[in-house]
Amino acid sequence: MAPADSCCNCGSTDKVKMTDTDLRRMPAMGLAGAEIKIVLPFPYCKECVPSAKRRRPGALGILAINSLITAVLAMCWIFYGPLVSEETMIYVVCPASFLLSLILVFGFYGMRRPSGSQTSYYQPVKLKNTGHKWPADITGLELAFTNKPYANSFTNANKDAVSSNALKVSNA
Ligand SMILES: [Zn+2]
Repeated sequence: MAPADSCCNCGSTDKVKMTDTDLRRMPAMGLAGAEIKIVLPFPYCKECVPSAKRRRPGALGILAINSLITAVLAMCWIFYGPLVSEETMIYVVCPASFLLSLILVFGFYGMRRPSGSQTSYYQPVKLKNTGHKWPADITGLELAFTNKPYANSFTNANKDAVSSNALKVSNA
């Protein structure tokens, strides 16, 4: 159902290959058990294939990484840093570790930018919403694309599904 002639990330038509894209949508509360997963093939060029596998980091994932780095930094202080009182540990070293890890995490994610004509470093397709007939019968899809021309050709290729409201296409 996805038009295969141009890369859905950068729009290139050179050596485009259909690649399974693992789309997931977390419920508002971020409960992993209720995560919805759909795998759809989309066309990618050679440069953009890696982006098919890069899911956007969720707030919970970032928080987990941040806590981990904070713990590691605090441990390093305990083993290698100068000996300080318990109070200094709680009010100075711990907050400082937390801040430093925040800077590291945001610095890391800030460096992940799309290259060249890519529209996204991460998956150029987002699963915005799903329509359901309980329990797991998916009846509708809402997809958002970071590449606007591709969103248009995707809409054209799926006119029937769009007009019957089974599919919604938007720009991310
Ligand atoms: Zn591309």
